Amino acid sequence: MTEAPTYGFDTLQIHAGAKPDPATGARQTPIYQTTAYVFRDADHAAALFNLQEVGFIYSRLTNPTVAVLQERIATLEGGVGAVCCSSGHAAQIMALFPLMQPGCNVVASTRLYGGTVTQLSNTIKRFGWSATFVDTDDLDAVAAAIDENTRAIFCESIANPGGYVTDIRALADVADAAGIPLIVDNTSATPYLCRPIEQGATLVVHSTTKYLTGNGTVTGGCVVDSGNFDWSASDKFPSLSEPESAYHGLKFHETFGGLAFTFHGIAIGLRDLGMTMNPQGAHYTLMGIETLSLRMQRHVENAETVAAWLENDPRVDYVTYAGLPSSPYYDRAKSCYPKGAGGLFTFAVKGGYDACVKLVNSLEIFSHVANLGDTRSLIIHSASTTHRQLSPEQQEAAGAGANVVRLSIGIEDPKDLIADLDQALAKASS
Ligand SMILES: *Cc1c(COP(=O)(O)O)cnc(C)c1O
Repeated sequence: MTEAPTYGFDTLQIHAGAKPDPATGARQTPIYQTTAYVFRDADHAAALFNLQEVGFIYSRLTNPTVAVLQERIATLEGGVGAVCCSSGHAAQIMALFPLMQPGCNVVASTRLYGGTVTQLSNTIKRFGWSATFVDTDDLDAVAAAIDENTRAIFCESIANPGGYVTDIRALADVADAAGIPLIVDNTSATPYLCRPIEQGATLVVHSTTKYLTGNGTVTGGCVVDSGNFDWSASDKFPSLSEPESAYHGLKFHETFGGLAFTFHGIAIGLRDLGMTMNPQGAHYTLMGIETLSLRMQRHVENAETVAAWLENDPRVDYVTYAGLPSSPYYDRAKSCYPKGAGGLFTFAVKGGYDACVKLVNSLEIFSHVANLGDTRSLIIHSASTTHRQLSPEQQEAAGAGANVVRLSIGIEDPKDLIADLDQALAKASS
């Protein structure tokens, strides 16, 4: 890492990983729109292919623009390295891939993004992997769900669709006791509101599609490695501790130490799974990250204002926002997430499913989209969209019942957001 660790977050979000282009002096990070890189000579090429020297070979593996983004996110998260990929869901597979084998499982929180529940409960079975879902407030249940084939615990910091915040330190202790890594999806919190590695997480995954890019332009993902896990302490992680036949018997952990997971992610993960982020996408995300702290402060302020207003409205049944004193997670949010509980929450509309549909159809500033973490305010009726594939029990567990809508509060004028909700609630309850 080139940056001195003493720089503050606001400085690092602009500078970490970047320096003026050595060839042209370009101050902004160029978009290196190239597939391949010329080798100095045949020996140089051989050293790169043997992982004896670090450099650029081919953009499925590494690209200079993407590399700046990787270093920036790793720095903001306090990790030793990061691998960017094509989407948040790709990042989740990239995080699990080095850990899992057929017959292995992951213990996952019940409070997850709907797409993640589907990925973990359904799609990963095709790889011979499985997931056990547990309420992460019940630490004994989490510990009891771990068996000899469990290779990770997976949770979200501030959980999507909102209202729930995870006690990462408590879960990390359970993971440590079992000798397995804790993976935290930090998409909704961003490293501005939460740095899971400081609270004991081994790996952090992101959908950079959301707040990191910040304006709904590109999909992307990232896996950040803390560098703290001893992959050789047991025989559970042979991909990282045992000889890799596709690299002449190289052992990633022995060779790369704390960077083993990151090197594996590039040399095996991106090379063979190919879920690569492109340099244009990385450029948009780099532009977004420059203003991350400013946006997150405003997202949080606006969310607090709008949530408090909704809570006092007679047309609303309840609001689930961990930033409200009425929330059962308020104290946890204050201690684990002191800069705020995020910009995402749900509320229940009196009148159930039909009122939710009317509300969504009547809003003018809020857009009805399956996205979050945009500068503009968004709404979604989770039960009929993102959480549609889940059973009613799974919907309830994820906080996405039929009478519930999720808001992703943008950085507009909060007075306008409240006025818009006011007029739409009037139509929804008429
Ligand atoms: C959106 C999202 C994902 C999936 O990310 P994509 O970039 O859409 O693949 C995963 N986790 C959370 C919390 C998300 O919000």
